[in-house]
Amino acid sequence: MSSYTTGGEYLTPTRIHADRAAGVLEIDWADGHQTRYDAPTLRWLCPCAYCRGEMGQPGWLDTQPVLTDIQTTLQEVGLVGQYALAPTWADGHHTGYYTFSLLREACPCPDDVARRAAASHTHGRP
Ligand SMILES: [Zn+2]
Ligand SMILES: [Zn+2]
Repeated sequence: MSSYTTGGEYLTPTRIHADRAAGVLEIDWADGHQTRYDAPTLRWLCPCAYCRGEMGQPGWLDTQPVLTDIQTTLQEVGLVGQYALAPTWADGHHTGYYTFSLLREACPCPDDVARRAAASHTHGRP
């Protein structure tokens, strides 16, 4: 795969692999980190206006819907320019552009989950 130039090593994928049969998206980063999303986790992250809401209105995912198998089945994953991935889901939903920074910042590995939990303890409360 060709190399990416924006965002430094932290935000530079060296390998992107969507395993549709397993329902897994794997990203290797230039700094050596590996991120692995299962499809439902990825679907819940969808950043599009429909899922997240816009202009102060809650989005569809804010209503805590029960996602069906169809809605959490990865059909394909396309690259958007050099900065984002756009998955297509089996229900036809395809408007979420997952930027590399979103994918890295939301990394579900135990190290990153612990790091975010620690950060929210220090910065969270007023
Ligand atoms: Zn969406
Ligand atoms: Zn991670």
